Amino acid sequence: MTTREQRIADFIAPFRVEPGKNVKLGKDFAPDFKGTVRSKKRGRKLLVQGTELLSEYQSRLYAQHTHGVLVVLQALDAGGKDGTIRHVMTGVNPQGVSVHSFKVPTNEELDHDYLWRYGLRLPARGEIGIFNRSHYEEVLVVRVHPELLDRQRLPAEAQKGLWSRRYREINEWERMLSDNGFKIVKLFLNLSREEQRIRFLRRIDLRDHNWKFSSADVREREYWDSYQQAFSRMLARTSTEWAPWYVIPADRKWYARIAAAAVIANALIDLDPRYPKVDKKARAALQEIKATLEKQAPKGAAADPFAASMPSG
Ligand code: ATP
Ligand code: MG
Repeated sequence: MTTREQRIADFIAPFRVEPGKNVKLGKDFAPDFKGTVRSKKRGRKLLVQGTELLSEYQSRLYAQHTHGVLVVLQALDAGGKDGTIRHVMTGVNPQGVSVHSFKVPTNEELDHDYLWRYGLRLPARGEIGIFNRSHYEEVLVVRVHPELLDRQRLPAEAQKGLWSRRYREINEWERMLSDNGFKIVKLFLNLSREEQRIRFLRRIDLRDHNWKFSSADVREREYWDSYQQAFSRMLARTSTEWAPWYVIPADRKWYARIAAAAVIANALIDLDPRYPKVDKKARAALQEIKATLEKQAPKGAAADPFAASMPSG
């Protein structure tokens, strides 16, 4: 491990939810944590470095075409999911990235098993796929509002021990993906109740932000404690060795962004994708093609226009 890789691993260690450990959000993770990064200015520098690193790794992931990465983003309203996606993915080639935002399920989606719609949107090999909200809504909003479960038309026998079963099924689904080359990076943006209030007020005060404000979000805020409990249980029950959760301190947007970038970078470092190696035979074939192309040069053109810049062999 290089020192930079070690620094990244150390930086993200406090955010990791140890598999099997109980979690109490309000107590175990501070939304305003900023560790050793003292200032926003220093934070900006780190973010630039982080996004450059991501871009380099993504090129290799795309070229190697063996692994895929799924980034799962969960948060309460105004937690900063959109901004995180925008800032962290700056500089990454859009060709290799997909983002999907999951909304209230459609009738067609409700007519299938609860994981169906998420399976349809998984990244392919070589890609980074981002789930803006995810299959975890099935144990979050659906748990906080049991009437949503009624719409899923489950048979009576499927209702018994439903939440425990869902945690297990999600873990198994992720294990299958992970065993088959798909790395799952799970980020929970942990916002405090007070910071959420401030962000809602800002959305009302700033005209350009009005479109982001929804009165439904303020109604959802009434369920704060139920959500904290549902998130805590989700973190405790679905943080696994193959797909651990990271609780990102989200009260400072700039900090949340570097933390998220670092967790994603760490996952890519783990995968260590490499550009495919060209063997001797393939290189010889390339030389033959080169010779043929050179013979086709129009009269008067330089015989080998790349001579100065192309390494030979
Ligand atoms: P923004 O931060 O921009 O508001 P958003 O992710 O909140 O983005 P919205 O369109 O406001 O997007 O809301 C999506 C809604 O879909 C949320 O209220 C969420 O609770 C709901 N939702 C997502 N998945 C499910 C699900 N499986 N069952 C029921 N509701 C869901
Ligand atoms: Mg919303």
